[in-house]
Amino acid sequence: MARYTGPQCKLCRREGLKLYLKGDRCYSTKCAIDRRSYPPGQHGQSRRKVSEYGLQLREKQKTRRIYGVLEKQFRGYFDKAERQQGITGENLLRLLERRLDNVVYRLGLAASRVEARQLVRHGHFMVNGRKVNIPSFLVKVGDVIAVREKSKESPRIKELMERASEKTPPAWLEYESDQAQGRVVSLPKRDEIDAPVQEHLIVELYSR
Ligand code: SF4
Repeated sequence: MARYTGPQCKLCRREGLKLYLKGDRCYSTKCAIDRRSYPPGQHGQSRRKVSEYGLQLREKQKTRRIYGVLEKQFRGYFDKAERQQGITGENLLRLLERRLDNVVYRLGLAASRVEARQLVRHGHFMVNGRKVNIPSFLVKVGDVIAVREKSKESPRIKELMERASEKTPPAWLEYESDQAQGRVVSLPKRDEIDAPVQEHLIVELYSR
């Protein structure tokens, strides 16, 4: 599946908040949103009234950008969420959270989802003992996500494993630092998903 390859800080500036797309840089004084907290482009600094549609659109774009998903795939997640039982907005976020790249990031085994995606693509992780290099792979309850034995030699992975051992993953995940592996203990509930998203706006947008 394709991915966005343009400038990432522009996306944060467009959405008006930190999306943490660049890992360590996002926590430094080099963060573009701290330096220029207005949208990019010629009209970035002019004031504009945002319509209801505009608000809904921005919420959808922001969510897509947080999880690194392009429009077509995002729409696919929405359609799937709609078919599931329960609240569509929450189902949508739950599906996005279950992506393997997101789980690697949540476990602390990558500094950003962008890095997590790359590490997954490069085959550094196994799910239930089998190599999986598909970032959109959806994990389920009971799945074990582990760093591959060979990859543990990589200096970057070593550093990330050390960092992960100092972090606490969200309640729906468990991390065993001695094994460098995580486990999905339950599906995430809305209050366990740390994402600055008003998902009902996305549902309203797609219901137009
Ligand atoms: Fe966003 Fe990170 Fe760039 Fe800051 S440094 S604007 S948080 S991607």
